[in-house]
Amino acid sequence: MTDQDGRRETLARNLSAVRERIAAAGAQAGRSADEVTLTVVTKFFPASDVRLLAGLGIAHVGENRHQEAQAKAEACADLELTWHFIGGLQSNKAAAVAGYADVVESVDRAKLLRGLSRGAHEHDRVLDVLVQVNLDPDPGAAITRSGAAPDQVPELAGRVATTEGLRLRGVMAVAPLGADPAPAFDRLAEVAAEVRAVDPGASWVSAGMSGDLEAAIRSGATHVRIGSAVLGSRPSER
Ligand SMILES: *Cc1c(COP(=O)(O)O)cnc(C)c1O
Repeated sequence: MTDQDGRRETLARNLSAVRERIAAAGAQAGRSADEVTLTVVTKFFPASDVRLLAGLGIAHVGENRHQEAQAKAEACADLELTWHFIGGLQSNKAAAVAGYADVVESVDRAKLLRGLSRGAHEHDRVLDVLVQVNLDPDPGAAITRSGAAPDQVPELAGRVATTEGLRLRGVMAVAPLGADPAPAFDRLAEVAAEVRAVDPGASWVSAGMSGDLEAAIRSGATHVRIGSAVLGSRPSER
């Protein structure tokens, strides 16, 4: 057995465990498993893992750093994958992200829209966009997750919806650190409903990671972003 065979077995085993968790959480919430899209977050892991995942039926992958994402997407250009950019975005990199990303989940300020729109135009594509919502109890605090404050999300969503080359798809969020994720995900569901009032087609709710996917699915997540439960623990994040 080669190293790649061993790695494929590990990924296959982890994937089936994650798929079972998604199905169980969906069943509990009275939702079917095919209502939830699994995006595997491959940050810190090599393009060879992305290739193995594609072979195991994964269609959606997520990355959070521009340079790493760009290199990996290029190395995997022959694969039928939907690339989700889920990380903090600088406005001077926004156009370049449109070179490989199909979905940008982390749009949290209007300043990014011009670059994303220009990039979409240059690469002759329409970018799916999610507005990232900050679910921290105090979004003004010094140490906080990124994301737009909930009360600013509908306006930002409206601007995405009217920007050429961008298609508003919904919202994304990360649960606050060290707190019960359930109330945060319920708050996200309320914000998601406000965004659907802006654009009824914007029905995606991307929430839930390895540690909290059940709570996210209970609150209505349509997309979960799973890294370590599939790929193993990451080397300490830079
Ligand atoms: C890394 C990351 C994930 C995946 O986290 P895990 O806990 O490894 O599943 C999901 N969403 C975002 C925004 C991330 O940066």
